[in-house]
Amino acid sequence: MVKDIAFFLAMELITLLNRCYHFKGFVYHHARFGPGHKSIEVTVRPRTGSAAQCSICRRPAPGYDRLPERRFEFIPFWGFFVFFLYQMRRVSCSQCGVVVEHVPWGDGKHQLTQAYSLVLARWARKLSWKETAQSFHTTWDKVRDAVESVVNWGLEHRTLDSIRSIGVDEIQYAKGHKYLTLVLFRSRPLSGAGRLVENLSSRMRGNEIAA
Ligand SMILES: [Zn+2]
Repeated sequence: MVKDIAFFLAMELITLLNRCYHFKGFVYHHARFGPGHKSIEVTVRPRTGSAAQCSICRRPAPGYDRLPERRFEFIPFWGFFVFFLYQMRRVSCSQCGVVVEHVPWGDGKHQLTQAYSLVLARWARKLSWKETAQSFHTTWDKVRDAVESVVNWGLEHRTLDSIRSIGVDEIQYAKGHKYLTLVLFRSRPLSGAGRLVENLSSRMRGNEIAA
C-alpha cells in the first residue's frame, strides 16, 4: 500500500512537471523515492533525436560524450526534497570546441535549479539567509548560491538604456566606520546633480568611494 502511494506521488510529480516546467528537447523519464523516502529523484533524458546545444554559443552541436550523472535540486514538493538526475552531454562545437551542453534548468556551476534558486532568493529578501535556510531545511551556503545566481542573472540581463541619472549615498554597516556605497538609478534628473557628481568625483579621486 505504502509502495503504491509512493509510486502515485512520484508519477503525479512527473505530470505536474510536464505541465509547469517542461523543456523542449528533454523528457522526465522516471521518478522514484530516494534513500529513506526523504527525496524524490526524477531522471531526465534528452528527447530522442534532439541535438544538444553548446553552452557557450547556444548553437546545436554534435554530441561528443556524456559526463557522470549529476543531481540538480528542484523546489521541494509535498515536504520531499526533489532532485533531477541527468547525465550532461559534452558537445563538439565547431566554434567553441568540446564543451558541456546547455541545460535550461540550471548551469554547470550550481547544484540548484534556476527555479529553486529563484524561490530561495525571493524568500531571502523577506527573511535572513539563515531563516530562509531553516525554513527550507537547506543550508546557508545554498541560500547564498541562490542569491548569487539570481543576482548574476540580473547583472547579465540588465539594461542601462533608460537610466538618466543616479543617486549615491553611503550606509553604515557593522560596527565602527564601515560603509557601503549605495547607488540608486533614477528615471528623473536629481536637483543639485552637478554638486553630487562634483563631490563623487573628488571622493573617487581620493579613493573613498569603496567601503
Ligand atoms: Zn559553441
